Amino acid sequence: MAEVTFRQIAPGVHVRRHEELNLNCGLVVGEQRALLVDTRSYHEHGMELLAAVREITDLEIVVVNTHAHYDHCFGNSAFRDSQIYAHVGAAEELRRSGEDQREQVVAHLRRTQRAHMANAMASTEIVLPFYLVDGDTTIDLGGRTAGLLYAGRGHTDHDLAVAVPDVGVVFAGDLVEEGADPAMEDAFPLEWAQTLAALADKGPAAQADLWVPGHGDVVDRAFVDEQADVLAELAARCAEVVSDGGVGVEAFVSACRGIGLDTHTLREAAVRVLELRH
Ligand SMILES: [Zn+2]
Repeated sequence: MAEVTFRQIAPGVHVRRHEELNLNCGLVVGEQRALLVDTRSYHEHGMELLAAVREITDLEIVVVNTHAHYDHCFGNSAFRDSQIYAHVGAAEELRRSGEDQREQVVAHLRRTQRAHMANAMASTEIVLPFYLVDGDTTIDLGGRTAGLLYAGRGHTDHDLAVAVPDVGVVFAGDLVEEGADPAMEDAFPLEWAQTLAALADKGPAAQADLWVPGHGDVVDRAFVDEQADVLAELAARCAEVVSDGGVGVEAFVSACRGIGLDTHTLREAAVRVLELRH
């Protein structure tokens, strides 16, 4: 197994890709502060991540949670000394669903014989982000800035991306996914494409050609545009089914076949589209 390390993708910008879920965490080092994007799945994971950050910089750490899914924020407990930023909707969602997420993941880990991880997850305190933003915000890191960007509903209703405009990098959270389909279980399938397009048009992101997805390999702008196109096709076909009076999951799935998403993904998207109509 390759050693897990931060890899520098641009001056002072690092990505740490983890074997678990292919999750990416990001680190942006300024002259006065360093910004960490996402904190992994539980306290021990977070502590290990903190140690890895400390190999690169001793600066004060500012944390951003891209969204409230456990793999991006349950490691917050290792960063209590830090300002933890997120969209206001992320704090609400974590308060609402944090314990449910924990319960589901712990049960899954136990079922798959990963007792150590299950216990580590079960004993992790969920620490809510408390620097909450509801729109675009600039964080001064000293000598460079990071833009926290909110472009609308997509993977969740509170996805926050982090742009580093001086080097053309965007940490997109799960708004962009590489190596697997975009994850639909809390998504807004009819809005995701326009949200992603709006994000890519925002000033701090518009020139970026290094896009770090929440999971998988770092990609370029063309990949992001292609993912937006697939999601736009998904939305268009779903809208057609709705206007034809289709009401069942299978009607959506068969209408969307061939656009480049797995049947499982289409089914989850269809379930969400139907849920959101009520
Ligand atoms: Zn997610």
